[in-house]
Amino acid sequence: MRQKSQFRLATFRCDITPPLGHSLCGGWIPAVSAVDDPLEAIGFVLLGAGKPIVLCALDWTGLCNSAHLKWRQILAAAAGTTVDRVAVQCLHQHDAPFVCLETDRIIRQYPELPPNVDPAFFQRCVDSAAQAVRESLTLKRRITHVATALAEVSKVASNRRILGEDGRVLTSRSVAPGSNDVRALPVGVIDPMMKSVAFFDGATKIAACYYYAVHPISYCCKEGRVSSEFVGLARRLKEQHDAPDCAHIYFTGCAGNINTGKYNNSEVRENRQLLTERIFAAMEKCSTGLRPEPIREVSWNTKDILPAPNRNFSATKLAAEIADSSRRVVQRNRPAFTLAWLQRVAAQRPVTLSALHINSTTILNLPGEPFVEYQLRAQAFNSERIVAVAGYGDGGPWYIPTAEAYTQGGYETGVAFCDPQIDLILTSAIHELITSAGTKAE
Ligand SMILES: [Zn+2]
Repeated sequence: MRQKSQFRLATFRCDITPPLGHSLCGGWIPAVSAVDDPLEAIGFVLLGAGKPIVLCALDWTGLCNSAHLKWRQILAAAAGTTVDRVAVQCLHQHDAPFVCLETDRIIRQYPELPPNVDPAFFQRCVDSAAQAVRESLTLKRRITHVATALAEVSKVASNRRILGEDGRVLTSRSVAPGSNDVRALPVGVIDPMMKSVAFFDGATKIAACYYYAVHPISYCCKEGRVSSEFVGLARRLKEQHDAPDCAHIYFTGCAGNINTGKYNNSEVRENRQLLTERIFAAMEKCSTGLRPEPIREVSWNTKDILPAPNRNFSATKLAAEIADSSRRVVQRNRPAFTLAWLQRVAAQRPVTLSALHINSTTILNLPGEPFVEYQLRAQAFNSERIVAVAGYGDGGPWYIPTAEAYTQGGYETGVAFCDPQIDLILTSAIHELITSAGTKAE
């Protein structure tokens, strides 16, 4: 018997690979010299729960401030919905664009600095995403069931902050740990589980999302070779192995303090393939664990926050650093990102968090580069729900350490744009979103 369902899903994708010579990772690593594999934007429009809801994942390092808003606005217009019902999250590969239009404007005052973004390329990407959304709506499919599954990922993620006996950060475990000693140290706090949320029409899988917290970097940043990295490669493997008309969408979780350092040595290039296989194996395990159940209720909530900047930063000092031609590029471009955040907070433009609740599952879309503790907390707030978390939405605030991490020191807290109060602000916002689950679909 054909089941009735009010819900439809339209999946879309488009190419967002930067052209040769384009800035990568904010302009402080070599620009594009070659494309090892293309970058994509992949997402879906969910219809039937009030105004359309859009989720989209980008193979970019980050998307900050008005560039992030622009993506959401354009996707909203294409899907016939409002901007508050669109979440755009990056996967955070490093040999990829890290776009901030405000930063671009600031650094273009200094011709010797590499620009942040080519505006024509940026426009081409948002235009093709909008076009892909419009076309997908003509091919939207009925969805009747949702399923979730968890699988432990073996030997990929480790915490990169190694604490000393005094509780302070002793060293940072890089993706290229020179010595085996650092690799032998404990894995530290991670979230070992990949979570998958999939949508079905009866028994036919239409789309599957995957969530896992790790910096998607095997090797990077030296030669300008663009890649969607081991997570994008695993996603493509999955596309080849599954039914051809199912969309597979990978999201990076809260990976601010998580990388592959324990299991990797970025000098060993074969590791990209190894890590791809491990992510793919977890995706396969998730697929076999999916038990579709009828979709009963779908709801969407958002929460706006505007965390204050770290008091260590001053706009005057940052402007002087950007202007100082004796500094390295990274020491001038990064202050431009920071200044863009200060200006945004001064202009009172908030950051939007969102949650999509389907039956007893919540998909949480967070901004910046949060520490893994935030997704562990999100899950702990309601153990009866599956909470799948994507980080790297609006990149404006950049690293989001925990309050405790600020007291431990280390690289990330030294460069984080926000005041330690961000912990309380973000944690309460997450709590509010998780507990708002369960509103009946309109
Ligand atoms: Zn990062």
